[in-house]
Amino acid sequence: MGEDFFQGYKGRALEVLKKFNVRVWGQASIETSRGNFAGTVLPRAENDDDRHIVLKIPTGYNVGIDVDNILEMKETGYKKANYKIPEKEFPFTEGLPRVKLIGTGGTIASRLDYRTGAVIPAFSPGELYGAVPELADICNLTTEKVFAVFSENMGPDQYKKLAVAIGKEIENGIDGIVIGHGTDTLHHTAAALTYMVQNPPVPIVLVGSQRSSDRPSSDAALNLMHACYTAGHSDIAEVMVCMFGPTSDEYALLHRGTRVRKMHSSYRSTFRTIGDTPLAMVTRKGVRPIKTDCNPRRKDKKATIVPCFEEKVAMVYYYPNMQPDMIDSLVDNGYKGIIIAGTGLGHVNIPLYPSLKRARDKGVAVYMTVQTLWGYVQMFVYETGREMMALGVIPAENMLPEVAYIKLGWALGQTSDLEEVKRIMLAPINSDITRREPYNGYLVYQGGVPEVEEFIRKFRK
Ligand code: ASP
Repeated sequence: MGEDFFQGYKGRALEVLKKFNVRVWGQASIETSRGNFAGTVLPRAENDDDRHIVLKIPTGYNVGIDVDNILEMKETGYKKANYKIPEKEFPFTEGLPRVKLIGTGGTIASRLDYRTGAVIPAFSPGELYGAVPELADICNLTTEKVFAVFSENMGPDQYKKLAVAIGKEIENGIDGIVIGHGTDTLHHTAAALTYMVQNPPVPIVLVGSQRSSDRPSSDAALNLMHACYTAGHSDIAEVMVCMFGPTSDEYALLHRGTRVRKMHSSYRSTFRTIGDTPLAMVTRKGVRPIKTDCNPRRKDKKATIVPCFEEKVAMVYYYPNMQPDMIDSLVDNGYKGIIIAGTGLGHVNIPLYPSLKRARDKGVAVYMTVQTLWGYVQMFVYETGREMMALGVIPAENMLPEVAYIKLGWALGQTSDLEEVKRIMLAPINSDITRREPYNGYLVYQGGVPEVEEFIRKFRK
């Protein structure tokens, strides 16, 4: 059999490709009843439909073109892609800090699988170095792939394994740790590691990328460089997230693991510190602190690893007309803790009250956070808040809902004594609860407002 020039195409789509003499990996210009397209024809997977031709267009996005709309199609070139990235041994440079990169998966460790068009976690840490040789000027890097999952598949087991792996690295005297991770739940893992790795002597930097490395606008390389720089050279010995600051690649921001959240589904500048300012700015040349109250780097090799997590904890996002059976079913299913993301200052409707009382009577820990994300739970302001507290709902100050969820899982993993759980929950750890929001701790872009327009123009080139 000769080479398969129509990989994965079948039925109508295959007929159309053959009719116009266009092959997979061909550069095609396509005229359709909906406009014209140009790009590379990608292979399709076995079980994809037979009605679309998939093109990778110059922006890096893949588009599916309905074959019924195609009027004319021409192959203008042909270039079979080779996406194998060479795996290289990392060179050792005397005098540079030693950094360990722990790979868990996500886009930062992905490349496109052209059989299926999907992004797959197949980019080993060794390949990462092959792709970003600049890393060798920043640190002496060793790598270890502990998982290869998209971040929605991270959970307590992975958090615990990561915490133990980090503990070992610290014991062995590493100068800094970078964790490559999918961005979607990067902030959950950052919170989990903040709790599970207490008082680390070195920086622990979580990093991801919003756009996979085969795309011209990928943030993978720069994020990795910034993260490695931070891990090796910064004096901040905390669990942090390092990602694009503005939408351009001018600098990255370091966010505390307990105050950070993914806020945009596609922007590279998706991570924001909520209710505070970021910890620092970082370029490849240096780290510029924004906050000064950081845990400083130390020479000892000690951290307290607390790899505990109770899985029967839930987070409930309140919506108007939520029915009490939502709470009842959690209690009936053996849940030991519930974080509510309530409206405004921390509210749910009156019909839920008896269920909340029942939860408390059955020994379930119930904490209130706010779905506004910014600001504090305030249950003294309205009568209803006071009533809910009397039913046993505990306000979680300005802890972010996801952070409260992780902290409650961690606290209940250590003890079932609800008083002790409360002590753990309400004792601030790495700014998960802060006494007040600084004046510049609430910033959300609002287009149309002069000062914001000026700010955006400055950074959007
Ligand atoms: N879905 C991916 C993940 O979170 C996206 C990313 O890596 O940014 O694993």
